[in-house]
Parts: sequence; structure tokens; C-alpha cells
Amino acid sequence: MFKKILVANRGEIALRIQRACREMGIKAVMVYSEADREAKYVKLAEEAVCIGPAASPLSYLNMPALISAAEVTDAEAIHPGYGFLSENADFAERVEKSGFQFIGPTPESIRLMGDKVSAKQAMIKAGVPCVPGSEGELPDDPVQIRRIAKSVGYPVIIKASGGGGGRGMRVVHTEAALVNAVAMTKAEAGAAFGNPAVYMEKYLQNPRHVEIQVLADKHRNAVYLGERDCSMQRRHQKVIEEAPAPGIPRKLIEKVGERCAAACKKIGYRGAGTFEFLFENGEFYFIEMNTRVQVEHPVTELITGIDIVKTQIMVAAGEKLPFTQRQITFRGHAIECRINAEDSYKFTPSPGRITMWHAPGGPGVRVDSHVYTNYFVPPNYDSMIGKIITHGDTREEAMARMRTALAETVVEGINTNSPLHRELMVDAKFMAGGTNIHYLEEWLAHHKR
Ligand code: ADP
Repeated sequence: MFKKILVANRGEIALRIQRACREMGIKAVMVYSEADREAKYVKLAEEAVCIGPAASPLSYLNMPALISAAEVTDAEAIHPGYGFLSENADFAERVEKSGFQFIGPTPESIRLMGDKVSAKQAMIKAGVPCVPGSEGELPDDPVQIRRIAKSVGYPVIIKASGGGGGRGMRVVHTEAALVNAVAMTKAEAGAAFGNPAVYMEKYLQNPRHVEIQVLADKHRNAVYLGERDCSMQRRHQKVIEEAPAPGIPRKLIEKVGERCAAACKKIGYRGAGTFEFLFENGEFYFIEMNTRVQVEHPVTELITGIDIVKTQIMVAAGEKLPFTQRQITFRGHAIECRINAEDSYKFTPSPGRITMWHAPGGPGVRVDSHVYTNYFVPPNYDSMIGKIITHGDTREEAMARMRTALAETVVEGINTNSPLHRELMVDAKFMAGGTNIHYLEEWLAHHKR
């Protein structure tokens, strides 16, 4: 096992990885930008290295600074967390060329899955069900584009192969709008992602977002840890996640889960990963794979009892997965609310000093957050300041615990979205379960204040 790991991230995930290292008896080297000097995990760290100024390109995205931090501290491995460089194949490659273990998949896997056209082709080959659409990148010829759209069936969605973060997509309802929409998406994709390739998919009208968590080792073992429902989204950003997905038959989950685990073995995948699907009319349609730990991993940890971050570290060190598929069992239900420093309903960021922080507790309540009373939320990064996750024997119990937890939570000095979460936890349709990816946006439109 590693003796020392460099944590190449910030915020709650940096703390989460630090905790996993402590439990495993591994020293964690924390890095920080000038804006994160006061972070508690930095103060509590055995070693911490300043990697640059607040702006992420100069710190958390600064590959030479991160690699030299690992060098000067004699770390053996680098955990990238999520966001920042976690899905950057060039970074993974540079980490390994510099003699460190990258805690994640190989650069080849990251590259394959980072390009959505190649990812989809690999998944079709591995027998994972995908959204019907173009076979690979769209050609330039308008006649061919129209022919493809006709066979897919309108409405269609044009998506950038190199896209991410919900950007680089355009829905097309009619043939008249098609060719122009393709040209515009191509131009935007070229400018935003440095890759003008686009592809076409059938636009599903009312799907849910359901994803499968996988874990794989370097010995071609792979398992799935069930699913998460992340349909509660605003601008394609997840707000609430839960596991299991309400109302989806276990048989269906097992079928798609087995396909995902088989696909991992086929492509030589290692580490943690998530296969994202749209789920509509009882069918799963693969949209993309995330080759890293996800924000919402705790809901899966709570229903399986498996520590995903510790397992990432174990398999990166070459150990075999400590469980087989048959040994994985699911207990109860878990829900996660992302707490963001933002205006509850206008969603404008609300950085600044937290004058009072009181975290909830009690049975089945987990809080993953790096903040504390008197912590200053820097304006330079993502607005998420923590996550409240609750677990219960049933979905109702998990939700009741979430209502209690949200009622106990006190954050003063900045605004957060917890008032929104409190309302959603008593919303009749959400409480019934199974709302689709448009539900939250529609709810917000009807609850304008
Ligand atoms: P990104 O990498 O930018 O997150 P995804 O491919 O994961 O892109 O898609 C993000 C979101 O866009 C999905 O969660 C869904 O809301 C919507 N979306 C993507 N593809 C389709 C589709 N074929 N039909 C309907 N909605 C889609």
C-alpha cells in the first residue's frame, strides 16, 4: 500500500480523500491555492503545499505545480478528486511518466471515454444500450445529415463530441432548422472544446437520469454498485441525488449493471467510474461515462456499506477488489442534497464569510463539508460548500431524516440553497418519486419569487 498520497483538489472532496487516507494509515499531502490557505484540511494536514494563486489555471489546473508538489513531498500517488484535472488524460499521463500512480483509470481509458463519439462506439461494441443516433461523427454533406435525422426521427439533439458540463448541445425539432443547427454547434464546439466534431442523437422528451456506479481493479475484476437517480437538475447540474432509483425493477438494474461491469472488463477499465444513462419508458440509454469519483458517491456508499474512495486507493495500489458482485448487497435508501453558496431561488453565487455554521446530526445523517464557523467561501471556485446525505430503511425514512437535518442546519453570513431543498423535500410529486430531468426547472418556473 502507498505510504503517502498527494490530494490534487480542494473543498469537500479534498477532505473526503484526506479522511480515507487517515483511515488507511496513509499520509495525505494537501495542496492549496492562496485563496484556500485557511481551509481546515490544510491546517489539519501533516503536510501541505501552496501550489499558486487563487485562479485555478495557476493552481488546481497547474500540472507542473502539482507534480512538483508530489516530488518535493515524496508522495507515491496522486488522487485527482472530481472536476479540475480528474478527467484530463494528459495529466494522468504526465503523472505516470513522472513516476507516480494516478488514482484513476489509464490515460487511454480517460481518452476513450472523454470523447463522446468514441465512448459511444466502445459501448455499442460492449453491448451497452445507447440512445439511437448517428453512427459516429456527423458528415459535412447536408443531404446525408438530413437522411440521418430522418432515420433517427425528430426531435434530435446535436451534441459536441468533446462537450461537457451540459454545454455544446442543441435540440432540433424540424428539418428546416437542421443543417444550420449542425453548423452552429460545430462552430461553437470548435471554439469551446477545440474539437468541432458533433454527433446526433434522438432527443428523449421526458427521461430520468439514472447512472450506474462501477469499480474495477487491475486484474480484470469489475463490479457494479447499483444505481443513482440524479434527475433533479437545474441547467443540467445535479441538485439532489438518491439511491436506489424509485420504482425501477431490480431485474432491469441488474441487467444494465452487468453490462456495465462487462464493458469495464472489455476495455480494461480500472478504478471507480460512472455510466450515465437516460431512462425512459422502461429502457436505459447510455449517454456518457465519468472516469472519476462523483460528487454523489456517498448515497451509494450508504446503501452498500462500501467505501468508494478507499477502494479507489486500494485498486490503484494494485490490490484486488475485496468483494465479488454476489457479496454486494443493498440496504435501505439514501438521499443527498448539495448545499451551494448561492441565492436560494435566483442562483447567483453568494461567496463570503460564514459567520455561523451548525451542521446537522443524528441517526442516518452524514455531512461531507469542509466549512466551519468563520470560514471564508472564496469567490473563485464552484459554489458547492458541502453535502448533506441521509440514510433510512425506506425512502420515506431517508426523506424524513433529510427534513430534520435541513431544519437543524444553520448557515449565516452567506446565502445557501437550503430553503429550496426544504421546499422540495415536502413537494408531493418529488415525494412520490420518479420525477424526470425537467421537473425541477418546471417547478422553479411555477414557484417564481
Ligand atoms: P455533459 O457531458 O455536458 O454533461 P451529457 O451527454 O451527459 O453531457 O448530457 C447532459 C444532459 O443533457 C443530460 O443529463 C440530459 O439532461 C440532456 N441530454 C443529453 N442527451 C440527451 C438526449 N439524447 N435526449 C434528451 N436529453 C439529453
